[in-house]
Amino acid sequence: MRVIVASTAPGLEQHQGADLLCVVRALLKKIRRRVLVGDRVLVGAVDWTDRRGMIEDVFERRSEVADPPVANVDRLVLLFSLDQPQPEPATLTRFLVDAESAGIPFVLVFNKVELVDQQTISYWRDRLKSWGYDPLFLSVNQNSGLGALEEMLEGQTTVVVGPSGVGKSSLINALRCNQNISEEDPIHQLVEQNSKWFGEQRVGTVSKKSGKGKHTTRHVSLLPIVDGGFLADTPGFNQPSLMKLTKQGLAETFPEIRRMLEENEPSQCLFNDCAHIGERGCVVKGDWERYPYYLQLLDEIKVRESFQ
Ligand code: GDP
Ligand code: ZN
Repeated sequence: MRVIVASTAPGLEQHQGADLLCVVRALLKKIRRRVLVGDRVLVGAVDWTDRRGMIEDVFERRSEVADPPVANVDRLVLLFSLDQPQPEPATLTRFLVDAESAGIPFVLVFNKVELVDQQTISYWRDRLKSWGYDPLFLSVNQNSGLGALEEMLEGQTTVVVGPSGVGKSSLINALRCNQNISEEDPIHQLVEQNSKWFGEQRVGTVSKKSGKGKHTTRHVSLLPIVDGGFLADTPGFNQPSLMKLTKQGLAETFPEIRRMLEENEPSQCLFNDCAHIGERGCVVKGDWERYPYYLQLLDEIKVRESFQ
């Protein structure tokens, strides 16, 4: 694994930014501590001449994304398209619930705006507003509206997720540093110098069991983006499984429920573990658009928990 030196300890200043090829200490493997792309690690046994070292410990993660496997992610981009394919409220809700429960800031983005009329854009803007969200609208193919997103991602480590066909790979290609940058631009040289390192070598290899029980391998790299920051080169493809979500956790992922609880402060639902399904003294009403999705997901969690 490639590791970039970030220590500011006395004597190490001149090595800042250098990269080291590291093996992972056997003990870490034994206790099943995986090293993910994006991890901050402690490196020992460094040979500065050969630029080699050994990963001895993994620092606590600020956050972690499972698909693709990346540590210390600052932001998720939840990408959908307005057409081809059209947004499905149930799928949107599943991705939103997953992002909310991950505790990572996220931005909801609708792509392919040029395929629909202004009315459709307003319709989705208003609909998402009533859910508690303020999405961005853009077109990757027409290179319009990308600026606002780029500003948001500046200096951060970002992962793009969303259903298939919405334009995730296209967006990643548009955001990463590429040939469009003028050769005189200092960032061009930075990317040139580092492209091999960023593009190919800083790779975390993760074995993952596929449905058939065979091992498939997924490579993830962090690519530099134009204004500084990194972008995972592989998007999340799967429908979120929501396997870790609890009943109580589910309620917290709906802005509509949070709003109703806040409006009723200081009096909350009568029961601490209220699931908001018509219990006595519940302050959460059922007259909002996504309430049926909330109930569906609640059922899904109940079924899963009954098998555990
Ligand atoms: P992914 O499956 O989410 O990674 O989606 P891709 O990036 O592979 O894109 C799926 C299809 O949508 C491709 O044919 C893209 O050319 C197309 N696409 C991506 N962005 C846009 C856009 O802004 N407008 C239109 N009309 N098509 C787009
Ligand atoms: Zn309640």
